[in-house]
Amino acid sequence: ARKSDENGIVVIGLGRFGCRLAGALTRLGHEVLAIDRDPEKVQRWSSELDRVVQADATEEGVLRQLGVTDFRRVVVAIGASIEASVLTVLALAELDIPQIWARANSEKHAKILSSVGANHVIFPEAEIGERVAHLIVSRMLDFMEFGDDFAIAKVPVIDGMIGKPLRDLAPGERYGVMVVGAKLPGERFRYAGPDTVLTEGSVLIVEGSIDQVQRFASMA
Ligand code: ATP
Ligand code: ATP
Repeated sequence: ARKSDENGIVVIGLGRFGCRLAGALTRLGHEVLAIDRDPEKVQRWSSELDRVVQADATEEGVLRQLGVTDFRRVVVAIGASIEASVLTVLALAELDIPQIWARANSEKHAKILSSVGANHVIFPEAEIGERVAHLIVSRMLDFMEFGDDFAIAKVPVIDGMIGKPLRDLAPGERYGVMVVGAKLPGERFRYAGPDTVLTEGSVLIVEGSIDQVQRFASMA
């Protein structure tokens, strides 16, 4: 195998998820080989992506013929058809693809994908659902959880933090969160340090446990 495509990524399945993913990877400067069994999908994306081919990805021989073994990273973006998604991951595992990413539609689907050889399982509906719940019930503008009860959020500044340097405010002791970044009105995000003074309209990046971050983002 060439393994020349260090920079290349295969995306299998050009549904709503797969086509966005392939487009974003292309914009990030990666060569994308996109595969879909539906000729209409292939037709539709052929002008926007480098290489789009029509094929059934569950067939190991077909994947080999398409040169998929030259790639280190493959994403299986098939969702609704669990059978097609599992068989495709299995075929990729048989081909010894080092990094297999796969999209799951349910917890059980995720378990099956891991057990047949997916190295990374993504479950977009679950992840987005949980994230949006945090946004709806607080003032958070964005939220990301990292496991081990650690989260980072983008939150508008609260009144109690305006006008004094962070050194004096000791947000860790007072609010239970660390302020790691701040964006003053009209400026860009910057690392927040002891000397940072927040003004009205500032936006913060805070980190802490999920509860602490949620509580901070719920303060008036
Ligand atoms: P999305 O939510 O991303 O729109 P979906 O769940 O609605 O996806 P799926 O049935 O998961 O739709 O299909 C996603 C894409 O994967 C479709 O374009 C479909 O043609 C393609 N696909 C499904 N099975 C295979 C297969 N065996 N080989 C190649 N492509 C496939
Ligand atoms: P998801 O992607 O979140 O799994 P979906 O696209 O597969 O959703 P939808 O048809 O959007 O499925 O339905 C989501 C849920 O909303 C279903 O449980 C459905 O019963 C419910 N739902 C659909 N229409 C209505 C309605 N008019 N009133 C109340 N609930 C509804």
